[in-house]
Amino acid sequence: MATIGFVGLGNMGGHMARNLVGAGHELKVFDLVPELMESVTGAAGQASAADTAASVDVFISMLPAGRHVAGLYNDVFDAFAPNTLLIDCSTIDPETARSVAQQAEQHGLDMLDAPVSGGTAGAEAGTLSFMVGGSDAALARANELLDVMGANIFHAGPSGAGQIAKVCNNMLLAIHMAGTAEALALGVNNGLDPAVLSEIMKQSSGGNWSLNVYNPYPGVMEGVPASRGYAGGFLVDLMTKDLDLAMDTAAQSRSSVPMGSLAKNLYRVHQQNHDSGGLDFSSIQLLYKPDLNEG
Ligand code: NAD
Repeated sequence: MATIGFVGLGNMGGHMARNLVGAGHELKVFDLVPELMESVTGAAGQASAADTAASVDVFISMLPAGRHVAGLYNDVFDAFAPNTLLIDCSTIDPETARSVAQQAEQHGLDMLDAPVSGGTAGAEAGTLSFMVGGSDAALARANELLDVMGANIFHAGPSGAGQIAKVCNNMLLAIHMAGTAEALALGVNNGLDPAVLSEIMKQSSGGNWSLNVYNPYPGVMEGVPASRGYAGGFLVDLMTKDLDLAMDTAAQSRSSVPMGSLAKNLYRVHQQNHDSGGLDFSSIQLLYKPDLNEG
C-alpha cells in the first residue's frame, strides 16, 4: 500500500481521496477549507501543502485551474522525497501542465497530467475516465492508484497530452449539447412532443450522447439534471472554463475551431443572461426555450 499526499478535496477530490482510503492506502490530505479535510475519514489532515508533500510515495492534486496548480507545485517542489510520483488530475491549460512537468523533471521527479471525465458521480463511484499525459514508466507506476479512482485509463501521449484530450472532448460535448437543445426546441416550437422527437432522433442519424443519455429537455428522461431543474451535474461555469481552455489551445496551435467558438459564446450568453453558472450545462436548453423557466 502507498503513502499518498492529496491536495484539493472539493467536489471531485474529496470522493477520489475517500476511494483511495477505502482501498487501504495511507493518505495525508490538505485543502484550504479545513472542514473538507475532516470529510475524508481515515486520512491525516495536514497544516500545509508542503507538509502533505513530504515523505509520500505519490502526490495527487485536484485543483480548480492552472494558476492554482502552478502556485501549489512552486510551493512544494522542495518538500518532495526523491522518487515521489506527481499526478495532477485538475483540468488546466496544456501549457501550464507541460511547464509544471518540466519543473518536476528538473527536480528529478516523474509527473503525469491526468484530467478526468465522469463528473462527481463518477468520482464517488470510482468510475472516472483518466486521460493521461506523461511517460510510459510514470503511468505504469500510477496505474494501480488510477484504477482505484477510475474505470478507464487512456494514455494520450507525452506531458500535456491528457489536457489536450480533455479539452477536445469537452469542446465536442458543448457542441453536441447545444446542437441537441437547438433541434429539440425547433421540434417543440413546431408542435412535436420532445419525448417523441428524442426517440426518433435517437434511432436516427441525429443520435448522440447528449440526446441519448443526458437529454436536456425537461421531462423526457428520468435521473438527468434536466428533470430536476438542472441542479447538480456538470456546471455551466466549469463548461465555460473548459471552452476557454479549448480557445487558448486553438490559438496556440493556430487551429480553426468555429463550432467550438460558437458553443463557447452560446454558453457565455447563457451564463450571463440566465445567471446560470451554477446550473448543469444541459440548461443551455433554456437559451433556446426561455419559456421553460416560467413553467
Ligand atoms: P472544487 O472547486 O469543488 O474543488 C477544488 C478544491 O481545491 C477546493 O476545495 C479548494 O478549497 C481547493 N484548493 C484550491 N486551491 C488550493 C490550494 N492552493 N491548496 C489547497 N487546496 C486548494 O472543484 P472540483 O469540482 O472538485 O474540480 C476540480 C477540478 O476537476 C477542476 O479543474 C475541474 O475543472 C475538474 N473537473 C470537475 C468536474 C466536476 O464535475 N466537478 C468534472 C471533471 C473535471
